[in-house]
Amino acid sequence: MSLIILTKLKLILKMMTKIFFDTEFTGLKQDADLISIGLVSECGKTFYAEFTDYNFVKCDDWIFENIIKKLVFNDYPKSGIIISNDPAVFRMKANSLSIKEQLEKWFSQFDKVEIWSDCLAYDWVLFCGLFGHAFNIPKNIYYIPFDICTLFKIKGIDPDINREEYADMNSEILKHNALWDAQVIKKCYNKLMSNEMVCEWSTLRACKFVFCYISMARPG
Ligand SMILES: [Mg+2]
Repeated sequence: MSLIILTKLKLILKMMTKIFFDTEFTGLKQDADLISIGLVSECGKTFYAEFTDYNFVKCDDWIFENIIKKLVFNDYPKSGIIISNDPAVFRMKANSLSIKEQLEKWFSQFDKVEIWSDCLAYDWVLFCGLFGHAFNIPKNIYYIPFDICTLFKIKGIDPDINREEYADMNSEILKHNALWDAQVIKKCYNKLMSNEMVCEWSTLRACKFVFCYISMARPG
């Protein structure tokens, strides 16, 4: 019996970990460069990095004002630095190659990973590009990424809904910080899925009520 319980526990521990991520980049165009990347696991482990090798020329005024000016490591040297080496709260500023290497290490703490983001068409291509090719992303990452836009649509909510308001995480200062945005995505996902659980519970209770009613009404 204890062997069965242990096997089940091992299976539970080997379940897919959801990782929510967001990136900031030099523009909504094909040759964009990454400016920053933020990831948060469902268990709360975070990775945040700012890039030093993106092309400034590709950035327009909006990106300078809303993204680059708000980067949290602007005062750190451009030569690259690991600010926190803790896999639970990893922080760095470096070039793409160093960030790719540290991301590989960070992902290795999870067994299997499922990636979630928001309007991720650009983010996902840039994420794969960081590893040189979609086939080169860490092997424990499921190759199909998921988008909360689709989840909003399925739940009957306008996918254009204000994410910060839905998540009750309004902050003009933190908005467009990749890690903050990743945390907003995570909160939206959890809220969308908890609604489903409540719904399922209500449906279950309604079914139970109808079943009881029919049983009581039945003669004999
Ligand atoms: Mg963002």
